[in-house]
Amino acid sequence: MRLTPEQQDEVAGQRGETRETRRATVPALEEILYEPLPVLDRGFIRVVDYMGDDAAIVQAARVSYGRGTRRTSEDQGLINYLLRHRHTTPFEMCEIKYHVKLPIFVARQWIRHRTANVNEYSARYSILDNEFYIPALEHLAAQAATNRQGREKLLDSVAAQQVLDLLRRDAERAYAGYSELLNEDDSGKPIDPTRPGLARELARINLSLGFYTQWYWKTDLHNLMHFLSLRADPHAQYEIRAYAEAMLGTLARWVPMSHAAFLEYRIDAALISATGLAVIRRLLASEPVTQQDSGLSAREWRELMALLGRSPTP
Ligand SMILES: Cc1cc2nc3c(=O)[nH]c(=O)nc-3n(C[C@H](O)[C@H](O)[C@H](O)COP(=O)(O)OP(=O)(O)OC[C@H]3O[C@@H](n4cnc5c(N)ncnc54)[C@H](O)[C@@H]3O)c2cc1C
Repeated sequence: MRLTPEQQDEVAGQRGETRETRRATVPALEEILYEPLPVLDRGFIRVVDYMGDDAAIVQAARVSYGRGTRRTSEDQGLINYLLRHRHTTPFEMCEIKYHVKLPIFVARQWIRHRTANVNEYSARYSILDNEFYIPALEHLAAQAATNRQGREKLLDSVAAQQVLDLLRRDAERAYAGYSELLNEDDSGKPIDPTRPGLARELARINLSLGFYTQWYWKTDLHNLMHFLSLRADPHAQYEIRAYAEAMLGTLARWVPMSHAAFLEYRIDAALISATGLAVIRRLLASEPVTQQDSGLSAREWRELMALLGRSPTP
């Protein structure tokens, strides 16, 4: 189950209410406000609040009081300029708050992003749901030979099924142990009245990294884009990337101009070293250049040739 019945009621209540405001609102984001957007097998993200829009960025950059005094094309140009030249503080004028349900191993990567405000579900106070992440077959791959932080060739169907069976079996066993330690039914009454239950803060320690947790995560647009530039990147682990990609969709709704600039100058752009740039200049001048005389390591050479859509070997 992605949402508990209580959470479903809460979402229905939130989506059923409207309030009048003089603050800037964004209709495309209002459409999905509070609604859970599925991620992985049981996770979700949902936008629960936001402040500001593209105009707030433009306004902060111009430090003016008027809205809509410039043409849209000029606003897009200004936002492009700000992002291109890393003039970042105007983007900090916009904030967004997400409710996220995510496996604990994804949360461990995510929490490394310090420039956000986080409040996590307390497994000292409440009982964790029996929900754990089971990867889809198409994501079960062997350890990559060249990249120690990645996966490579897909497992064949027999091996994949064995992995799934093992993951499910261990998670079910861990949750059964958790329930036994707690010794509580859904209403909080002891299952076995002859023995005491263990405190929730201790009973949880035997659960594994695949179990789901939840948090509220609030950040500003500048730091959100920094997070997405790292976590929507192909180098990021697939599972956190799945969340980043869903969040990119919310960015497109919320601040379409900043989203367009972000794709142009960050996500689909590339950082090229001075030596790499010298290689490109030589290629443009039709000079012969090889990895050996380029000054680049074999890895950097491969990465640059991939960026340029060229074969790494002449
Ligand atoms: C592909 C990938 C692989 C990774 N592998 C590992 C790994 O093997 N082991 C590991 O431990 N981590 C790993 N990380 C995590 C990584 O090292 C960063 O901790 C994480 O991406 C957060 O980045 P950040 O510090 O820029 O973000 P944030 O914490 O959001 O900070 C944003 C920016 O604010 C500034 N800032 C924030 N706090 C401080 C501070 N205290 N001092 C100075 N400046 C600050 C910095 O400029 C920083 O870039 C990996 C990340 C990625 C994307």
